[in-house]
Amino acid sequence: MRQLACLPANEKEINILSKFAELGLSKSILAALDEAGITEPTEIQQATIEQTLTGRDLLASAQTGSGKTAAFALPIIECLEEPAKKPRALVLAPTRELALQVEEEFKRFAKNSGLKTVTLYGGTGYDKQLNALRKNVDIIVATPGRLLDCVERKYADLSAIEILVLDEADRLLDLGFMPQIRKIISKIPKERQTLMFSATIDNRIQSIAREYMINPTVVKANIDRIDVASIEQRFMHVTEFSKDALLLKLIEEYKMTSVLVFTRTKRKATWAKDRLRDAGIIAEEIHSDISQNQRERTLLRYRNGAFPVLVATDVAARGLDIPTISHVINYDLPEVPEDYVHRIGRTGRAGRAGMAFSFVSEEQRFLVRDIQKLLGQQPEEDVVKKSAAARRFKSRSRRRVM
Ligand code: ADP
Ligand code: MG
Repeated sequence: MRQLACLPANEKEINILSKFAELGLSKSILAALDEAGITEPTEIQQATIEQTLTGRDLLASAQTGSGKTAAFALPIIECLEEPAKKPRALVLAPTRELALQVEEEFKRFAKNSGLKTVTLYGGTGYDKQLNALRKNVDIIVATPGRLLDCVERKYADLSAIEILVLDEADRLLDLGFMPQIRKIISKIPKERQTLMFSATIDNRIQSIAREYMINPTVVKANIDRIDVASIEQRFMHVTEFSKDALLLKLIEEYKMTSVLVFTRTKRKATWAKDRLRDAGIIAEEIHSDISQNQRERTLLRYRNGAFPVLVATDVAARGLDIPTISHVINYDLPEVPEDYVHRIGRTGRAGRAGMAFSFVSEEQRFLVRDIQKLLGQQPEEDVVKKSAAARRFKSRSRRRVM
């Protein structure tokens, strides 16, 4: 929205009277949205913001990447209005990485309000977080373990919480946080608004909603928001043996500085990462054999551009929202066509163009047809000669790609 600055004042005004204004958000938030370049509410935002502003409980599900954070952050900022003495909103998130993403969104949208946010998560010292807690915060974003710790030590005061959010509720449950969450909820006033956001709603989530919510509005917007049209897709026919050489060639040829490589197994992820490192490229891996903490550290570094290549399995990369990812490479194709869409949807985010390469070995050719059927389109197919790629690999000198 940078070009808005050159428009006459009244036109700028009209733009601020956007769909977000119709949802009941006021000027200072609209200005912050405008500055963030966010003009249109996503489907889940459209469906929930007004409801949330009325104070009703809400159980909402929508695809990863569909803007659920802003769906609760915006009305919370609107409701809290201005700073007060005690924290009034609490967001529980399953991992440090996700908590930090939530904090980032709050900070972006609350910049004109003076509301303060603190983020509490484990695996790091207390000093900084406790110092921040002492300064009259309005919004606490936290992973359950660390928050409970802070509450039990009387560092965090939840007695004035008016709005509670369980974000990524399905993952909170997957990670076994329910006992801690119960204890946390017992410290929060009963008279409150409770919001639950999740990628999926299953029986567990419904039962928690019954237990902790009063007559919630249920909104499901599970429509895939991945904009496949903004992603250029290439399928490349290869043999298993030429994949490493082709991977290297693509990364170098396209000067990729932020690429996500998918493999089907953990072992292959380690293998591909090691081959890249052999060639002098800084690569890291994330999969279920790597500890949660380590994964989050790696993701944070990747997000900050500390290294160019991340090799991942489907589970580890689900829901990853890193707008700078310019390329996705499927070292192996996924078994399920829907996973293909989720994988390539890690690139081409937030209106940027993205590119996805998929290596197709002979025995995986049938998967391409399924994918094309799902997408209803005919991505370009390249035929790569194994010998040519292998030759290039051998003659390559050791270089760093950064
Ligand atoms: P979810 O929690 O549903 O997985 P996020 O809340 O993390 O998704 O949002 C994904 C990305 O979309 C974030 O970078 C966020 O800033 C951006 N975003 C949120 N709302 C909008 C919008 N209305 N228009 C454009 N981008 C948006
Ligand atoms: Mg989210």
